[in-house]
Amino acid sequence: TDMRELLLSRIRDVSDYPKPGVMFKDITPLLADPAAFTALTDALADMCARHGATKVVGLEARGFILAAPVAVRAGLGFIPVRKAGKLPGATLAQAYELEYGTAEIEIHAEDLDGDDRVMVIDDVLATGGTAEASLELIRRAGAEVAGVAILMELGFLGGRARLEPALRGAPLEAL
Ligand code: IMP
Repeated sequence: TDMRELLLSRIRDVSDYPKPGVMFKDITPLLADPAAFTALTDALADMCARHGATKVVGLEARGFILAAPVAVRAGLGFIPVRKAGKLPGATLAQAYELEYGTAEIEIHAEDLDGDDRVMVIDDVLATGGTAEASLELIRRAGAEVAGVAILMELGFLGGRARLEPALRGAPLEAL
């Protein structure tokens, strides 16, 4: 589609970043283009409406940039999932495996309750580890998962397959 072409044209490939052998997908040109950023925000907000979301979760850090305008556009609350040690209130924490070692993310436990259906938003789905851990946090906070909405899926890393069990039938949509 036209939107897909527009978004793709505003994503920059940076080779050997952050380390040799990695091709980094840089979304800053997209953010700097108001037509592309608006189209992206509208498409993600539409996903929230279609899947009956009541809250939007953004994954630190680029997920914040996308999820915040989506929340405003969709008329929903925004909730940050942050790297460990950044949230001041009472948190739930979830550790997950990286290529080398582990990472940990957190959410404010009181931000969600049993009536909530949460749409998780991030820029890139790579191995799926971060998104998988975020679904765990949302369910442990007592809420339901409405879906995962991603700008770009790096299919060759197998993130969709890793995420599949944790989705429990909820949609994973990549623009
Ligand atoms: P995963 O946990 O392996 O799926 O990695 C996904 C996380 O790493 C997301 O929060 C992304 O923002 C980030 N990430 C991984 N690869 C890229 C990339 O090429 N560009 C931008 N972000 C990336």
